[in-house]
Amino acid sequence: MDVAHCTEDGHTYEAVQFSQLPPVVLARKRRLLRCPECNGPAFFRKASRSGRAACFGARPHADGCGLAAPEHDVQPDGQGTDQDPLNNPGRRIVVDFNYGAQEQPEREEAPGLPRNPNRRGRFVGEGDRPDARMHRRLSTLLRNLVEVPNFSQSDQLLEIEGRDEIAVRDFFVSLDAVSGEHVGMYRGFWGMLSDARFAADGTLWLNSGGRDDVSFCVDEDHVDAIYDRYGIEDEEDIAGAYVLVFGTLRVSQNGKLYCLVTNPGYMSLRLAD
Ligand SMILES: [Zn+2]
Repeated sequence: MDVAHCTEDGHTYEAVQFSQLPPVVLARKRRLLRCPECNGPAFFRKASRSGRAACFGARPHADGCGLAAPEHDVQPDGQGTDQDPLNNPGRRIVVDFNYGAQEQPEREEAPGLPRNPNRRGRFVGEGDRPDARMHRRLSTLLRNLVEVPNFSQSDQLLEIEGRDEIAVRDFFVSLDAVSGEHVGMYRGFWGMLSDARFAADGTLWLNSGGRDDVSFCVDEDHVDAIYDRYGIEDEEDIAGAYVLVFGTLRVSQNGKLYCLVTNPGYMSLRLAD
């Protein structure tokens, strides 16, 4: 998309014009962009060293928005996909934090048989039929949240290790709906990132909008793992990405909402094209 509307100053900018703003102004205004036609949350990405031009995008555009371009789905973490939960009659979704590309979790095929590390066995547990449970990675959950309109309102139950079970519709919170009432809650926060910036101490901050919007905080020690996993070269690649983070919302002393990414496995990203 060639133009974006800035809610701070009311101007509609072209990408090249926006890229020429003073850095401090650009850093602030890029978190306050909207699609000028449908008002969807928009992002700005600087020109890259590899020659990609400065551009705007919005994720998502409203249905039928004339400025929407088709999205090319990439599998950024090389995992392939597991099945769409909505195509499965099972009601329970077991969250699988094992994001390693090659590693498959060991599961018992049946009581008494040796574990088979090369195959994802069926779940062996109490209660429900084994096939009533589906194991889903964060990347698949994020894909469903983004692409399947009704998934976020589903009454399917989530099983998260060490947590009480909770309905999908109660657990996932879109970034534009995050507010002070979520402070202290462990939830799945998802939506579009406007930009990412390193703090002086090496912490990477993933921002979802302006001062009043939630940011995610990635410890310096986890940055390399995340860059490797998604093929990120610099923080501009993160502008416009969809994110899903499992974590507890916090509020800083000066009122900023944030959530620590305590483990790279508790986050999934889908980079913009
Ligand atoms: Zn739009």
